Amino acid sequence: MAASALIATFIAGLVCSAFVIAFARHQSALTRDVVAQHRVRLGAAQIEAALSIGDLATLETALGALIAQPDTQRVRLVVDGEVRLDRSAAPADATPIVAELESQALATETVATRLAKDRILVAAPLRANGRSGALLLSLSRAPPSAPPWRTLLTFLIVLPCAAGLAAHLLARALSDRLQQVRIFAQTLGDRGPHARLDLIDAPGLDGVDVALNRMAERIEQSQQRLQRIAFSDSATGLPNHERLVQEIGRFVSEQRDGSIAGLSVIRLERLERIYHAFGQESGDELLSRVVQRMRAAVRSIDRIVRAKDSGPATASILARLRNGEFAVLAPHLATTDDASRFAQLLVTALNQPFDWRENKLVLNAAVGGAMLPSDGEDPDLAIRRATMALSAAKEDASRLRFFNKAMDREAAAQLQFEREMRAAVDRNEFRAFYQPKIDLMSGRLVGAEALARWVRPDRTMVSPGRFIPAAEENGLIGAISEQILRDAIWRAASWAREGFPLRIAINISPLQFADERFAAKILKIMEEAGASPDRIELEITESMALENAERAQRLLEPLRSRGVKIAVDDFGCGHSSLASLTRMPFDIIKIDQQFVRNLAKDRHAPALIETILAMAASLNYEVVAEGIETEREMEFLRRRGCMIGQGFLFGAAMPAAEFIAYAESKNARTIGMDNVAEVG
Ligand code: C2E
Ligand code: MG
Ligand code: MG
Repeated sequence: MAASALIATFIAGLVCSAFVIAFARHQSALTRDVVAQHRVRLGAAQIEAALSIGDLATLETALGALIAQPDTQRVRLVVDGEVRLDRSAAPADATPIVAELESQALATETVATRLAKDRILVAAPLRANGRSGALLLSLSRAPPSAPPWRTLLTFLIVLPCAAGLAAHLLARALSDRLQQVRIFAQTLGDRGPHARLDLIDAPGLDGVDVALNRMAERIEQSQQRLQRIAFSDSATGLPNHERLVQEIGRFVSEQRDGSIAGLSVIRLERLERIYHAFGQESGDELLSRVVQRMRAAVRSIDRIVRAKDSGPATASILARLRNGEFAVLAPHLATTDDASRFAQLLVTALNQPFDWRENKLVLNAAVGGAMLPSDGEDPDLAIRRATMALSAAKEDASRLRFFNKAMDREAAAQLQFEREMRAAVDRNEFRAFYQPKIDLMSGRLVGAEALARWVRPDRTMVSPGRFIPAAEENGLIGAISEQILRDAIWRAASWAREGFPLRIAINISPLQFADERFAAKILKIMEEAGASPDRIELEITESMALENAERAQRLLEPLRSRGVKIAVDDFGCGHSSLASLTRMPFDIIKIDQQFVRNLAKDRHAPALIETILAMAASLNYEVVAEGIETEREMEFLRRRGCMIGQGFLFGAAMPAAEFIAYAESKNARTIGMDNVAEVG
């Protein structure tokens, strides 16, 4: 680019210099024409004066002066038709041309002029004492040749000026184009899909516009891809939470006509369970089928509820919030009745059984509704309120609830409760209580389950039925379980040292299990406490183990290999199949207390418990029955071969000191797994 600029500058300089010189020459030729006419007129006047007084000396002097001029090529004097002088320094012009010019001067009484390429002929009339004639001069038109230093000087002055001018113009053109490029580059990505850069006449920037346009196109495509990723759910392609927030915001800000929107947050309670039961590949296929059904349902409800179809601008939007949670925004409805009807039809449609791979599936949908803008102009608040309504809907037979102000108060109370719970965690108000576990064959105390209890400073207790679900929801269960875990391991070690070698069962929360260092942490506490691993039993739920069976194996293996026992808690509530159980790293099954409670009420319950016991025996699992409250229940379980029982019949969870007193009162100083004595 620099080279071509230099060459262009040099050429421009040359052209300018040549132009300046040519112009100067032209100007000097014109000047010389005027000088020639002036000179011939002056010469003629002197000759007329000399002729009129007959002064030949003056005549000769005048003619001599004319001849002596350096540019004079010819001087001719004609008086009364007779040539009195004809002096030529260069090839003379043809006489007829000269004579014609002289006659023209005499006839017109003015100076006659004829221009040739390199000379000028001028003739002036003469009149003196009745005599007439003409004076003719031929003068060179070429300028007196300038000395070489003047030409050089001209070049030296003009060339740099021309070069500077050319460089300036070139730089300005370049800087304009570069400015264009800079603005284009700065606004890349903000200019819409069709913005293009066009650099016409931009020497040295060839191809830059093409490259930048290609880059702009690629950025545009990436932006569109990012938008798609950022605002849609990757598994289903539906709009996601962020997009729903945008759409709600748009409705609220554009809503001028008094119309309302219905926001429904939907939970498909059984979707996750079915998803896990069928495995990921089939689960994905099921998910897309469910989404198809939901889309179709929303479309047909739109047609029913909206009196006239007013186009896609008012079509409802189906979004996926997380796992089994979806939402529908039905904008621009005429009345709140329309919004309620919309949500009702939605619940009904989603709870219709449907066929999938020879199965009849019911998704068990619950819907929480909110009206916009009255229930929240802020999109997050609106979603939160519809979600509050959803929590209520889950407990409701109709599976549908709309937000009301009381829910806000409940939520505020819940928030206050959560605050208190956090403070209680910091103050170590959560204690482990121990519930006895009894060998049903011998009646001996064999262990205990550590259960979290919240004991306030004034010794009042908060019901675990209240704080455990709340802690599971707000994540505090992790910190609480950690405190219980630590307490239980230290107790197991100290009780064993005091002569009570009991096995202590500890509940593990999903949050603790999500930690990759789960096993290492527990092993470390056991080491610090000096607890023997075979005195520790960890209770995890079916879903924790089955969600990622391979990971569960990996996490539990270091503990099992050292002798820690793993129990599956609340067995029967989940969806474990026999086949999946055989792959699980379990040693113990805890039959959920609802089966025991149903023994007297439900005629199928005994068969169910018998099946679980038979299966456990064949797979070599130990079985613990929870929630034994009556002698009859204990007797039933004992006769069917259930070895260990736990329940209010033997004792509720109690503080550690009380538990040891309980053990002692049962003369239990010698009881335990390996040193058995009768209870009571
Ligand atoms: P779980 O592990 O199944 O614990 C047994 C629950 O049954 C306890 O309820 C216990 O008090 C109750 N129970 C025991 N015997 C009987 C009986 O004869 N009749 C009746 N009706 N209930 C009986 P609790 O203490 O309210 O605990 C509820 C659940 O909270 C536990 O169920 C467990 O899943 C969880 N939990 C308790 N403590 C902890 C903890 O430290 N960490 C974790 N992650 N979860 C805990
Ligand atoms: Mg438990
Ligand atoms: Mg349980």
